[in-house]
Amino acid sequence: MGRLSRRLKLTTEDDPVKVELDLNALVPPDERGRFSLQLILHGRQVCYARKPDCGRCVLLDICPSADPVAKAQLKKPPARSSDR
Ligand code: SF4
Repeated sequence: MGRLSRRLKLTTEDDPVKVELDLNALVPPDERGRFSLQLILHGRQVCYARKPDCGRCVLLDICPSADPVAKAQLKKPPARSSDR
């Protein structure tokens, strides 16, 4: 929770209690359980601790910590058949 919250700039805190307070200010009470689960699964499946897989992340275009190379690829127009 903390690592992803910091990567997404939802908090700058390291202390888990302070992270929770920051997230509580952003997420309505009835959505917190689902939000927490989604963040945990995203960290397990895409946003790995050592090397996040930004190239296949659905948050790539809005993530402030995204890999700049992956982000540049996102903005590239698709190659035309005449370019090959
Ligand atoms: S873009 Fe990269 S750093 Fe940002 S949430 Fe996705 S995988 Fe994590």
